[in-house]
Amino acid sequence: MSIEVKNIYKKFGNFQALENLSLKVETGELLALLGPSGSGKTTLLRLVAGLDFLDQGQVLFGDKDAQDKKASERGVGFVFQHYALFRHMTVFDNIAFGMNVQPRKVRPSRHEIHSKVMELLKLVQLEWLADRYPWQLSGGQRQRIALARALAVRPRVLLLDEPFGSLDAQVRKELRMWLRRFHDESHITTLFVTHDQEEALEVADRIVVMNQGRIEQVGTPEDVYHSPVNAFVLNFLGNVNFFHCRLEEGKAIIGGTALDVPGLDVDKPHPAKLYVRPNQFKITRYAPKGSALKALVEYVNPAGTIVKINMKTETGERIYAEISQDEYKNLKIVKLEQVYVSLKDVTYSEHLHNIP
Ligand code: ATP
Repeated sequence: MSIEVKNIYKKFGNFQALENLSLKVETGELLALLGPSGSGKTTLLRLVAGLDFLDQGQVLFGDKDAQDKKASERGVGFVFQHYALFRHMTVFDNIAFGMNVQPRKVRPSRHEIHSKVMELLKLVQLEWLADRYPWQLSGGQRQRIALARALAVRPRVLLLDEPFGSLDAQVRKELRMWLRRFHDESHITTLFVTHDQEEALEVADRIVVMNQGRIEQVGTPEDVYHSPVNAFVLNFLGNVNFFHCRLEEGKAIIGGTALDVPGLDVDKPHPAKLYVRPNQFKITRYAPKGSALKALVEYVNPAGTIVKINMKTETGERIYAEISQDEYKNLKIVKLEQVYVSLKDVTYSEHLHNIP
């Protein structure tokens, strides 16, 4: 079941929370809504769920307008950041709850409910916890049970609002990989809210980057990371260095040094802001062919799969670079040494019109 929102608007008092927003989540897709706090992610999710009213626009489930359908009729499963399981019920009874309260005519038999709960517990890989109470579970286990409970009533779509938000970093990482695998097996259309770019990049089929009630970009994780449409998306998706410079065909002039930028296509020379990801620098001990920025190594952190290096150029620009452990072994640089920094590539440049 696909979900589509068309030209939706939502105001809270005088505040425009969503403005002319359109988006389609394809059947079976896992789509992440990513954006800073207050960008409208939860508002959008609540409108899709039918928990709030639109001012204008349409929400479609498949090709049917969902406008007149109440939340309970939309066939959505929810998991929130603090999804309170019923404390006085076991894990089994929590998952069975949605089925137990269905009208007698459509309610499955006791036997069917038992099989379904055990099947869901197997799906979330927690069969052994059926008889426990919520307070006897870890945070990560509770969220997986919340997901099983949301799935028990066979939702057509799944809406997840920062489901791992309250968990510590290690558990979050495990659960996001688990969610990815779970989605690959279940193929249930899923809209997933997060403000954590790493989470969105790892889990989603496509990412919607939101800002101030609007969409900045929709694309695959690769698209939004490597081909951001503007500086907001670029900044939001991971570390980036930026320099004020002048761009010419194939060259960026930073602090008086003309650096080669492979493939840089410039109509006519202009002032610009240049954005460079930490892995797009080349660091050498000796001046390379062409030109390079002279920089002082301020800090090296080799702990991890990559090596992180902070540097400061002669003209005062700060650079944060990441290189592989192999490159680091060859370079053998330490704090306070002088190095040469050139550009392998750049991610994005912004034309500055107002500076001569
Ligand atoms: P977060 O990541 O912090 O949860 P979000 O992107 O989910 O943020 P929303 O919760 O959708 O953001 O809120 C968007 C904007 O709308 C915020 O500025 C918020 O203050 C405002 N807002 C949300 N709900 C209401 C409400 N019921 N009344 C008034 N303003 C609201």
